[in-house]
Amino acid sequence: MAIVRTKHEMPTQAPEIRAHNFQEVALGYTAEIALEEAKRCLNCKNRPCVSGCPVNIQIPDFINKIKQNDFEGAYQIISGDSALPAVCGRVCPQETQCESKCTLLVNAKMEPVGIGRLERFVADWHRENNNEPAPRPESNGHKVAIVGSGPSGLTCAGDLARKGYDVTIYEALHTAGGVLVYGIPEFRLPKAIVAKEVEGLKAMGVKVETNVVIGKTLTIDELYDMGFEAIFIGSGAGLPNFMGIPGESLNGVYSANEFLTRSNLMKAYLDNPETPIMKGGKVAVVGGGNVAMDAARTALRLGAEKVYIVYRRSMEELPARREEVEHAEEEGIEFKLLNNPVEILGYNNPDDRRDPKNGFVKGMRVIRMELGEPDEKGRRRPVPIQGSEYELDLDCVIMAIGTSPNPLIKSTTKGLEVNRRGGIVVDEGGLTSREGVYAGGDAVTGAATVISAMGAGKVAAKSIDEYLSNK
Ligand code: FAD
Ligand code: SF4
Repeated sequence: MAIVRTKHEMPTQAPEIRAHNFQEVALGYTAEIALEEAKRCLNCKNRPCVSGCPVNIQIPDFINKIKQNDFEGAYQIISGDSALPAVCGRVCPQETQCESKCTLLVNAKMEPVGIGRLERFVADWHRENNNEPAPRPESNGHKVAIVGSGPSGLTCAGDLARKGYDVTIYEALHTAGGVLVYGIPEFRLPKAIVAKEVEGLKAMGVKVETNVVIGKTLTIDELYDMGFEAIFIGSGAGLPNFMGIPGESLNGVYSANEFLTRSNLMKAYLDNPETPIMKGGKVAVVGGGNVAMDAARTALRLGAEKVYIVYRRSMEELPARREEVEHAEEEGIEFKLLNNPVEILGYNNPDDRRDPKNGFVKGMRVIRMELGEPDEKGRRRPVPIQGSEYELDLDCVIMAIGTSPNPLIKSTTKGLEVNRRGGIVVDEGGLTSREGVYAGGDAVTGAATVISAMGAGKVAAKSIDEYLSNK
């Protein structure tokens, strides 16, 4: 039977409707579509897709189960390697990971199997059809503390709890989930999915203490005094970078982290929110990653009349996932590529110092760029075109040009080594320069991906288990 050359399309909300609501854009495969997509898989003997997955999910095996209509069996295979399949099926950059290695793409120049879409289908099917809580493992008496409840912390906690450890997660914010709840918007990752994963951990006995900032409320050393025998730091990279250009302190300039947190976590999209946010007007988001796409599409849904992405390189170098870029374009976001801000302009009425618009953003001076010689990573360097500056009329500017690990834990923990970018230094098992203290995820690597953070949580859980078993 001839193989269908393209992936089965993902049903989605129509762009003109979804641009005005926060409900999920991609609606997921039905069982019928999933079965048809699974039939495209060749069940390759050399399993190239598995090597493309950072946690080595046994992809051909779970797809084979789908072919046999055994969706629960497929879930059991995926969950052997991934703690958050419903999350990864939605947000992993499969096009540069497992799907980039698929034989259909590499050898036959067809579209790869829709591995991510199938993973999401299986995880959603399990959530909707199987409500049996995971069994509570027998305690082994050892206490482990986890700092941060993002994907690295949740994965580490889950793996240790399954082995019988008494695990407590300390989270600075009032809700667990890390970037999955405060960063990635509801229209890409419904918060109920993350909440369900956290509930699953609690059912296994994991304790989650929110509103506790390690380094302020409690230090790493105080956690030892409380009887914890090992600690995992998964505190992420939540410190936003700014460009250092004039005007960044004007009202109406946000970091993407602040803007998304206000919308996602503090529910600023409601009509009378306790936490205000700029709604409407003309918005520019500076940057080209997933964070920039999320901020731009959130601004649109909050009622902006016009949203620009201002990115200093071309579409080819733009790092966001292709699917997110296509969705943003379909929704009407305008891409100003090869453009770079030089100054944010503020409103100033010299005749009326009490004019409420004083001190607010009114525009941005932008310079056009061209691509020059490649940099050390091989990406062509953007070079300003002299004399090409122009002004963009704006009410709000959102900076999405990267984040760094927060220095709080480093500055309150003696002997914890960090590199020059603020990332905690670890060995291959996730051990830091302090005995019994492990780290992983964005706190180590700087801003990266959900799956790499989960992988690091897994590695650290294994090391902690070995450390405490031999102690
Ligand atoms: P985080 O998810 O950042 O979690 C860290 C947690 O630690 C937070 O809850 C924080 O509040 C808490 N914390 C910090 N300091 C302390 C402290 N001192 N005490 C207690 N708790 C503390 N990746 C993808 O793979 N695909 C995507 O599509 C994607 N989109 C993204 C969109 C946005 C808007 C953002 C911001 C990131 C995106 N990422 C994406 C990246 C991905 O979300 C991160 O790489 C991943 O969440 C890192 O996980 P983590 O566990 O290391 O940290
Ligand atoms: Fe199936 Fe593609 Fe993996 Fe081969 S490489 S087993 S076709 S998903």
